[in-house]
Amino acid sequence: MKLFSHHEFDNHEQVVFCHDAASGLKAIIAIHNTNRGPALGGCRMYPYASEAEALNDVLRLSRGMTYKSALADLPLGGGKSVIIGDPRKQKTPALMRAMGTAVERLAGRYIVAEDSGTSVADMQQIGQMTRHVSGIADKYDSQGNRRSGDPSPMTAHGVFVGIRSSVRHQLGRSDLQGIRVAIQGVGNVGQHLARELHRAGAELWVSDINSEAVERMVDELGAIPVSGKEVVNLDVDVFAPCALGAVLNDETIPRLQARVVAGAANNQLEESRHGQMLAERGILYAPDYVINAGGVIDVCYEGRDIGQSEVLHKVNAIGDTLDEIFRRAQRLQRPTHEVADQLAEERFLNRQAAA
Ligand code: NAD
Repeated sequence: MKLFSHHEFDNHEQVVFCHDAASGLKAIIAIHNTNRGPALGGCRMYPYASEAEALNDVLRLSRGMTYKSALADLPLGGGKSVIIGDPRKQKTPALMRAMGTAVERLAGRYIVAEDSGTSVADMQQIGQMTRHVSGIADKYDSQGNRRSGDPSPMTAHGVFVGIRSSVRHQLGRSDLQGIRVAIQGVGNVGQHLARELHRAGAELWVSDINSEAVERMVDELGAIPVSGKEVVNLDVDVFAPCALGAVLNDETIPRLQARVVAGAANNQLEESRHGQMLAERGILYAPDYVINAGGVIDVCYEGRDIGQSEVLHKVNAIGDTLDEIFRRAQRLQRPTHEVADQLAEERFLNRQAAA
C-alpha cells in the first residue's frame, strides 16, 4: 500500500496506524496540517472492505478538515481518524478506550470527536484515556435549551444561516418567509434544520429512507413528504442535501429546479467538475464544508472559557464567509467551490489563525 505517492496524499504531516490486540482495534489517524493549530476531526467507524479503502477515506477526510477549519477561522488544523470495523457488531468500550490511548500518544496534535459510527458515549470512553477529545460536554442550543455534546444542532444552525445568505444572494430576499425548501434526509441535522426553517416561515418538503423521521416532520411542522427521486426534481427555491455524499452528479444536476443548493451533507459534489456544472446552470452552490462547519465550531470551543453566545456568533459568521465566497465567485466568474478552496488555502498556507 502506497502512502507518499497515494492519490489522496496531500503533504499530510503524519499518518499513524494504530493497533491493540486485546480489544481488536485497527485504526488510522491522519494529521493533514497543523499550521493553524492542533488537528481536530471526527473518528469514523466503518466496516471498510480493505485497509486501502480506510486509508483513502482518512487521507481525504483529514485534508477536508484543514479546509473546513481554516474557512471557519478556527485555531485548528485538520485531521481525522477511522476505525476499521462494524460499529453495530464490533464496537466495545475497551475498543474505544484503546482508541483513546492511541489519541493520547499523539500528545494533543490530534483532537478526536464523534463522526458516523461513533457517538457521544464513545467519546466519553475515549475521554477516560485522553483529554484530547471533544463533543462530550453538555451545552446549550441556539434557542438556549440544554443539550448533549452532539454538535448536530449547531451544524443545523450554520446551514440555516447559510441558506439565508444563499437566498439573499441568489433570490434577493432578506427573509425566508414562504421560501420553498426541499430537505433530503431529516436525521440529526436535517430535523433541526427543518425546525429552524419552519420558525422562519419557510415551506418544507422532506424525504428520508426512514419513514418515522419523515412522519415526525409532517406531524410536527406540516412538512410535505416526498420520495427519494422526487426530492431532487421539485419546483422549490432551495435543495438542502442532508443525507449522503455525491448527490450532485451527472444524473441529478440536470433535474434540479432549485436555484440554490445548500445543505449539511459532506462531499455533495460527486466530482469537482459538478460544481462547474451547477454554476453553468445558474444554480448557486453553498460549498458543503463551509456551510456545515457549525459542528466543528461547536466542538472546537467546548470546554474553553467562551460563552454559548460567542459560539453562536462564530456559527453565524458562516453567513459572512459565504457572502464573501459568493461575491468573489461572481466577480471572478468562477464556481463557488473553487473560490472556497482558494480562500481556505490563503488562510492555512499563508498565515496562522486569528486568535
Ligand atoms: P444522520 O445519520 O443522523 O441523518 C441522515 C439521515 O439521512 C437519516 O435520517 C437517514 O435515514 C437519511 N438518509 C440516508 N439515505 C438517504 C437517502 N438516500 N434519501 C433520503 N434520506 C436518506 O446524519 P446527520 O448527523 O444528520 O448528518 C447528515 C449529513 O451531514 C451527513 O452527510 C454528515 O456527514 C453531514 N454532517 C453532519 C454533521 C453533524 O454535526 N452531525 C456535521 C457536518 C456534516
